[in-house]
Amino acid sequence: MDYQRFFADKITALQEEGRYRVFAELERHAGQYPHATRYLDDGTEDVVVVWCSNDYLGMGQHPDVRNAMHAAIDETGAGAGGTRNISGTTHYHVLLERELAAWHGKEAALLFTSGYISNEASLSTLAGLMPGCIIFSDELNHASMIAGMRGSKSDKRIFRHNDLEHLEDLLRDAPLDAPKLIVFESVYSMDGDIAPIKEICDLADKYGAMTYLDEVHAVGLYGKHGGGIAEREGLMDRITVIEGTLGKAVGVMGGYIAASATIVDVIRSYASSFIFTTALSPVLAAGALKSVQVLKTAEHLRARHQERSATLKRMFRENGLPVMPSVSHIVPLLVGNAPCCKRASDMLLNDYGIYVQPINYPTVPRGTERLRFTPSPMHTNEMIEHLVEGLNEVWSVHGLERVAA
Ligand SMILES: *Cc1c(COP(=O)(O)O)cnc(C)c1O
Repeated sequence: MDYQRFFADKITALQEEGRYRVFAELERHAGQYPHATRYLDDGTEDVVVVWCSNDYLGMGQHPDVRNAMHAAIDETGAGAGGTRNISGTTHYHVLLERELAAWHGKEAALLFTSGYISNEASLSTLAGLMPGCIIFSDELNHASMIAGMRGSKSDKRIFRHNDLEHLEDLLRDAPLDAPKLIVFESVYSMDGDIAPIKEICDLADKYGAMTYLDEVHAVGLYGKHGGGIAEREGLMDRITVIEGTLGKAVGVMGGYIAASATIVDVIRSYASSFIFTTALSPVLAAGALKSVQVLKTAEHLRARHQERSATLKRMFRENGLPVMPSVSHIVPLLVGNAPCCKRASDMLLNDYGIYVQPINYPTVPRGTERLRFTPSPMHTNEMIEHLVEGLNEVWSVHGLERVAA
């Protein structure tokens, strides 16, 4: 077999479908959020406005976060030096886990090297340890949750997105005495809609199921203290496991779960991708700790974030741009096919210095390819106007569909 040729053909297939991923090479500048320098292939540079960062509030550049990380690196050095079990549990990790547990009103929390790993490790362990466990999973759940559920080798029933009736049908059909785990997200990252958490918890109570909630796109952003949608809706105590990331609104890197002391202990004790990997750098833990502490009182940032998002959606609607029905800070604009989505993104980048990455299958279903905008508190009215001007031009040049304003 010609191995190189085989894999090159796999790449060609993606290119022909128009969904080959090209990374923009950027350098962000602390203090100038959302501006970044873009490095081009021809060796030149360009300044762009980033419209698709998941560092939703710019916390990755916050002076207090940077200072905490500088201090930690000078005090302790760069890395943890081992797995959590073998010399890698630093004071910084313990402090951060305490803070995260308190943030979500739980007894304990556990850190992972990413949100992806936290989902993969926790779901595969929890469901995998319970013989005969049946998982009930929202059809739009993130790839990391799907990896965890697969890893558990449990029986899985998929319910239609946010569809309580379908979920109840599936729960009713399952054996009464089987252990059950309902797995879902709060804010869905590509549509910006929000799960009916209370009603799902009611169903969990009725059918004796555990609940696992991914709050990755909500922590730092919702709730009085930024604890997420479950905090906003007073439901944190009804969720068995809350999972979050330190890489999005917290602005650093890493992932975690918060739950009862027993559940945290069992994942700590059994999850392979927690046990057999070097602990997160204490520098990252120190930065994340400071960021969470700042976020707990950052109501002004959260309010401004929501206002910017509402303003962007309104501007899109007024211009007949097909903004999808999001009820969160996420602003998706429907394009509907992969090559057009790529061309639209390229034109915005090259002609307007506007960076928004095309979102294609398998991140979203085919036919719903989109541009996903994440306005931050630092995006100004001028930036919004410039973006709308660019989009109007792109929509005209490529003959993309508009909706009645
Ligand atoms: C990004 C994301 C994750 C993974 O978090 P990372 O910290 O980036 O690994 C998990 N769940 C959802 C819904 C996400 O969007």
